Amino acid sequence: MSTRLPHGGPGENSVEAVPGTGLWITAQWVGIALTGALLTGLVMAPELSLDILWNAVIPVLPAVFMISPALWRNVCPLATLNTLSGRARGKVKTDGALATAAQVVGIGLFFVMVPARRFVFNTDGLTLAVVIVVVAGLALALGFVFNSKAGFCNGVCPVLPVEKLYGQRPLIRLGNPRCQPCVMCTGVGCMDRTPNDAVRQVLGAKADSKAWLLTPFGVFAGGFPGFVWGYFTLTDVPLAEAGAVYLHVLQWMAVSYTLTALIVWVGNVSSEWMLRLLAVSALCLYYWYGSVGIADAWALPDAFVYALRAAAIGLVVVWLGTSARGDTVELAPSSASAGA
Ligand code: SF4
Repeated sequence: MSTRLPHGGPGENSVEAVPGTGLWITAQWVGIALTGALLTGLVMAPELSLDILWNAVIPVLPAVFMISPALWRNVCPLATLNTLSGRARGKVKTDGALATAAQVVGIGLFFVMVPARRFVFNTDGLTLAVVIVVVAGLALALGFVFNSKAGFCNGVCPVLPVEKLYGQRPLIRLGNPRCQPCVMCTGVGCMDRTPNDAVRQVLGAKADSKAWLLTPFGVFAGGFPGFVWGYFTLTDVPLAEAGAVYLHVLQWMAVSYTLTALIVWVGNVSSEWMLRLLAVSALCLYYWYGSVGIADAWALPDAFVYALRAAAIGLVVVWLGTSARGDTVELAPSSASAGA
């Protein structure tokens, strides 16, 4: 049963309260506590902590984004910090050029930070801990300037483009306990307010032509499967080889983007279907190669690798079928129901 919350003020949307809000809030603070434990572990027991992060926690996220990005967005510790300051103080809302600039920064951070795993973050717990603290500080600080999630979670967060690509059509829609009520902090493309339409809103009118390929999100999405391939066809190397890591990943992104453009132009494939194809390609590549690293890290048998690969393929088959039919299981009202 849901309860109607009072209006939050001018320009805000009244939305239905989310069932289990208390549980979500508890999970958010557990997330903060676990982040503290991770930071301590990265300094005190880096080898085990790095394995837990890179070979247990992070591998869950792509599947979670495809099933329901809200499952992560509702508990992400960085989002907790961002909204902690943002809902109380931040005033600036993002739209138009400011939103595009934030999107470009987020995509840039993603492409800089993830390959850096190969020459620093996969092996150096202390440096990773420092970077996590800096990013957490950024999430908190941007909340003081930007309203709600506008500055970080819906702005420069480097994970946001990946959430958008994998989460373009959630299998399950959960409620949004953070934005009660929605204050319209983000003009277009909010995954919490319009989960099924966020990507299309970001692409705007270009979604209906081939020009979407030239948008920042189009460039990101087109290059992403190649990025995943490029990352997994590298091994960890010394810092001195950082340039070669970026060059290798960039080359595969270029191949991926070129193939995407060819498929769109020659096959006359719509942005909607091409983005689905890119999401499932990247996810399958991720688990195909990632499963081997996870099995190595935890000394798991080959059967685990085969099972994880099969599960990933099963997920994309189900996801493609349901997204093509436009099906979504709605477990709780979302901010979108406010009519924003
Ligand atoms: S639902 Fe989206 S637009 Fe509304 S307050 Fe939350 S993050 Fe901002």
